[in-house]
Amino acid sequence: MHDDFGRLLARVEHLRDGVLSPQDARVWPREWLASLEALGIVEAAGFADEIVLDGGDHECFAPNLGFEKHPDDPDRLICVHRCMNGCGRVILEPRDFEQWRFSMLGLAEAVRCAIGASGRVVEDAPGRIVLIGTASVAGQVGDVFLGFGLARPDAAGVAASATRLVASDGPALLSVGVKPGDIWSVGKRPMTAVLAEHARLGTEGLDLDLAKVFPASGLVEVKPDAWITVTAAAELLLADVSGIDLNKAKARVSKAAGERRFRTNGKEGRDRRIDRDSFSTWRLAQRERDNDAWERRHS
Ligand SMILES: [Zn+2]
Repeated sequence: MHDDFGRLLARVEHLRDGVLSPQDARVWPREWLASLEALGIVEAAGFADEIVLDGGDHECFAPNLGFEKHPDDPDRLICVHRCMNGCGRVILEPRDFEQWRFSMLGLAEAVRCAIGASGRVVEDAPGRIVLIGTASVAGQVGDVFLGFGLARPDAAGVAASATRLVASDGPALLSVGVKPGDIWSVGKRPMTAVLAEHARLGTEGLDLDLAKVFPASGLVEVKPDAWITVTAAAELLLADVSGIDLNKAKARVSKAAGERRFRTNGKEGRDRRIDRDSFSTWRLAQRERDNDAWERRHS
């Protein structure tokens, strides 16, 4: 029964106004819907104005005419569908008309508890993007968001309007039941997963292991070495300055290092290491000089 939760999350993406109709709700056991209600993921949304009856060879809309006491059992409320279309006389009960509304904020809170995120749930784009909280994602601490309706035509605009998501550094986003389309602005693509594929309903609430959803191994940040060798620096210089070979480039780098034109580790010979950033600044200056010289030769 627990795998039903994924199916429900996929289903709610397609509900009109987020309402599980009585015929939607019939698919799932009542106790199960009751535990979702206890978690705040769905909330009772009163009775439907009409329900679809499956009459076998025909479909029929039975209106909610209000409930009256059953003539033989005063404890029982009923609504009688008297039908000329082939249903005949059908006795319906309030539970047949019950409907439920999906709660984005309720689901976000349930996910927050499941992953132990700190902070509180905050709506970022109304009904569509919610900040769940801060948690360890792929080995780093980051904001976790919940997204809804992210395959709809307006999703790119919604994503761009979610100010917390846009401002977040390395966020992760759980889409309720669909894979988001290509909706992110360049350079602002969060790590994304579909919640319906990972969350299960456990005995105490949701089961969701964020470490499995966003494995750390897939996201090791590779930083370039800050310290480089004289040879590596000379190779960089070669790309910028014309008319020299690697040995001349190395000689030029060593000379400039001795003159403290850029930062080094203070050692000499084989142990000398050069700070990549300050070397780049010097190297760009060499390129400018090289360009100027070229211009003079050819003017
Ligand atoms: Zn009927």
